[in-house]
Amino acid sequence: MKGCFRIPTTGAFGDPIDENPSGAMMEAGFKSVGLDWRYQLFRVPAVGLQEGLNGIRAMGFSGLNLTIPHKIAAVPYMDGLSESAALIGAINTIMIKDGKLYGENTDGKGFIIGLREKGISMSGKRIVILGAGGAARAISVECALAGAVQLTIINRTEAKGRELAELIAKKTSCAAEFVHWTEKVRIPSCDILVNATNIGLYPDESLPDIDYESIDQNMVVQDIITNPAYTPFLQKVNRLGAHTLDGQSMLVYQGALAVELWTGKKPDPEAMRKALKMLS
Ligand code: NDP
Repeated sequence: MKGCFRIPTTGAFGDPIDENPSGAMMEAGFKSVGLDWRYQLFRVPAVGLQEGLNGIRAMGFSGLNLTIPHKIAAVPYMDGLSESAALIGAINTIMIKDGKLYGENTDGKGFIIGLREKGISMSGKRIVILGAGGAARAISVECALAGAVQLTIINRTEAKGRELAELIAKKTSCAAEFVHWTEKVRIPSCDILVNATNIGLYPDESLPDIDYESIDQNMVVQDIITNPAYTPFLQKVNRLGAHTLDGQSMLVYQGALAVELWTGKKPDPEAMRKALKMLS
């Protein structure tokens, strides 16, 4: 299995930037705070994780992002974890300071900031999440910590979905339940519905198998998939009259938070969004 390290550096290693669209977004973030840092992509096999981490520490990098399969596997190598990363049990960002590695998960935080940008706070919200993978886990924990009152996890694989609902119910003040995903599953009454599955991710054009009659016009429906941004799911629920949001803001803000962790400066999310759009 292969995994990617995404490493900001002042050097010029790795894949060229045109093969690394998230690199263009992150470098726009660095530029917006007056830094000419580079963001490079490296493939590291699962078995090379520890050596990879030691390597980037030795080379003096400021930090890195991680993708599957390293998000969970890297946790034991951290010298410290944020509160939510410890709860989630996975990290997507590492900050390196004085030779020590600190793990953070910015996915769920990026999701929350993206909604806040649209004037939607988590406080008192009832949220339904399709999926129980890494992204669903990060979003669930951050929503619960940010004041959501009820989370419903709907997942195909029962053990994974049940484990996530139990984690939220036990470790946060938010109520949580698991619903097993069966054919045309009914969406319970809620304020926010999130598709955190891969269904509709390019080149897949299928729709989540849910009861579309249970979607009501007061729901905010977010798909976190960014490729394409306007997924078949969003197109369908838009036609039903629900308010829809795509996954771009989450992507921009999870990156902006990482840039801030590494540089200590708040990047301009608009510059990062523009860089992303120029490539799509
Ligand atoms: P994972 O592989 O960890 O989880 C995938 C989830 O999708 C699992 O719960 C899986 O269910 C479910 N799933 C996949 N196919 C089906 C199907 N046919 N029917 C029902 N359920 C299905 O992936 P991630 O959580 O890392 O990513 C999920 C999506 O989120 C991806 O599309 C990714 O691109 C997007 N993403 C977007 C981000 C952003 O910033 N906008 C950030 C991170 C991710 P099961 O447990 O049964 O296998």
